Amino acid sequence: MENKNIYVTKPFLPPLEEFNQYLEQIWANGQLTNNGPFHQKLEKELCEHLGIEYISLFSNGTLALITALQALKISGEVITTPFSFVATTHSLWWNNIKPIFIDIDPVTLNLDPDKIEKAITPATTAIMPVHVYGTPCDTDKIKRISDKYNLKVIYDAAHAFGVTKNGIPVLNQGDLSILSFHATKVFNTFEGGAIVCKDKQMKQHIDDLKNFGFRDETTVVEPGINAKMNELQAAMGLLQLKYVDGNIIKRKAIADKYRSGLGDIPGISFLDEIEGVKHNYSYFPVFIDENSYGRSRDELYEELKRNNIFGRRYFYPLISMFSPYNKLSSAAPELLPCAVKASNEVICLPIYPDLANEDVLKIIKTFKQ
Ligand SMILES: *Cc1c(COP(=O)(O)O)cnc(C)c1O
Repeated sequence: MENKNIYVTKPFLPPLEEFNQYLEQIWANGQLTNNGPFHQKLEKELCEHLGIEYISLFSNGTLALITALQALKISGEVITTPFSFVATTHSLWWNNIKPIFIDIDPVTLNLDPDKIEKAITPATTAIMPVHVYGTPCDTDKIKRISDKYNLKVIYDAAHAFGVTKNGIPVLNQGDLSILSFHATKVFNTFEGGAIVCKDKQMKQHIDDLKNFGFRDETTVVEPGINAKMNELQAAMGLLQLKYVDGNIIKRKAIADKYRSGLGDIPGISFLDEIEGVKHNYSYFPVFIDENSYGRSRDELYEELKRNNIFGRRYFYPLISMFSPYNKLSSAAPELLPCAVKASNEVICLPIYPDLANEDVLKIIKTFKQ
């Protein structure tokens, strides 16, 4: 058999001819960035597609996170999860905010809302949960707590493109939600991101912030940054949008194959499907219980690599284990048992729209070797 490498993801690329047509338009009108025609069109189409009120496009998701905290003037301490991509916590650091890690829920692997109240101090100003792997957080419970203590909620929704719960887009929860359109995500603009918000004034504020604080040619209203999405990225986004629903259906088919192919293996488990959730199948995490499976997650990870299959241990190590954060008192592993367990057991398997059936079968076979 051919020994090509299979990676955890492979960015979806629309047909090149379609992108070339957009390039010709960009060359014809000469506008490369600064809220150009493709940028405006993509904001409009994303609002319709995602069922949201307002969106502000960004050059990447990390700058969207950093700017969201600026937009709400968050300071002091923010309660967040250690089980995420490191950018979640870095965005706090860049705003001089102290992250307070709390443990995760063992079923959803999202920040455990029952742990929030104990972590609140007079310095707490906000909660930053993550819809990990696109599984919605318990947004109702988080809202009850944030209302009670007058805290802001900023969702890192980098994994939650198009996810709905009981028909309601998760992007409409909290004060702000952040998307990432990085090449590895379900919907990509090479690099890119966005902030989703609920009113026009906030959208204006965020649009100012991502463009140096300029309101108009001669007015700077605040010290903003440069985090604008350019026209090439926006054109890519418009094309991705045409294909994203079909791609999610293809992803679901792969997830179904994994579930049926791996479901009977002792020691292998998956995340529960949550009733009422329309998923985007952005990741396919499996969890390895070393005792009943007979080898550890890392042994399996290496065995997969020997077979040219490159799963990823998202999220290992925990953010709280990294040197900028591991001295914080909330980073002590004994306070985060569920996060430590998930981090030690997880491996995300390859999932992308054109992953071949024979590759899926090869991956399943490797688990059984
Ligand atoms: C990808 C990702 C980000 C960062 O987004 P970029 O667009 O790569 O800057 C932030 N948070 C989470 C959870 C992510 O997966």
